[in-house]
Amino acid sequence: MSRGTEGELVIMLKCYQCSESGSDEEAVAICIMCGMGLCMDHAKRVDIPIWEGNYPAPVRMLKKGLPRFVCRDCGNILLPGSCE
Ligand SMILES: [Zn+2]
Ligand SMILES: [Zn+2]
Repeated sequence: MSRGTEGELVIMLKCYQCSESGSDEEAVAICIMCGMGLCMDHAKRVDIPIWEGNYPAPVRMLKKGLPRFVCRDCGNILLPGSCE
């Protein structure tokens, strides 16, 4: 683990799916299911009503109305057929 000075956590999050294919895209979102970093191309915005209110984490940490993102794999699990 490497940290910046004075406990400042330096986060350089890259899109995991892009890095797997050899490119170096900066992540703009994180999958709420598996925590994978995702670029705009790979992030999938979802609205999951069943999670409202009673799902313990991590959705409750988000303010209401903020978009939620999942990776393609998790999107297929949550919303089958929504991703190619
Ligand atoms: Zn990507
Ligand atoms: Zn995921």
